[in-house]
Amino acid sequence: MKDCLFCKIARGEVKSETVYSDELVIAFNDINPQAPVHILIVPKEHIEGVTTLEEKHKNIIGHILLVAKRLAGEKSISEDGFRVLVNSGSNAGQVVEHLHFHLLGGDRLKPI
Ligand code: 5GP
Ligand code: ZN
Repeated sequence: MKDCLFCKIARGEVKSETVYSDELVIAFNDINPQAPVHILIVPKEHIEGVTTLEEKHKNIIGHILLVAKRLAGEKSISEDGFRVLVNSGSNAGQVVEHLHFHLLGGDRLKPI
């Protein structure tokens, strides 16, 4: 997707503080962090969001959660706890229409 922000980040056309990258996903620090650790984990393939997921995406979703686990370990937030969340649509506050998982931790998070 030519004009999609997260596609541009995945292609390296927009700078980000990348913390992890492989053939399927890129993970980078959120520009407006809501916690001491706030990382976005993003499939390199353009998927708009949860509502457009298909059977063929099962592997990437599992992979993203394993990357979240790995990054939580690397950032030393596993023991104290962390949150992984996805916003879908306007009521949830999704602003970037390219699927992304938020990894939040490093402090006590507000209950949801
Ligand atoms: P959403 O609200 O769609 O679930 O989350 C979008 C997230 O992307 C927000 O937390 C926002 O701070 C982050 N974001 C928006 N633009 C940029 C950007 O250009 N770079 C980075 N690193 N994060 C961004
Ligand atoms: Zn995209």
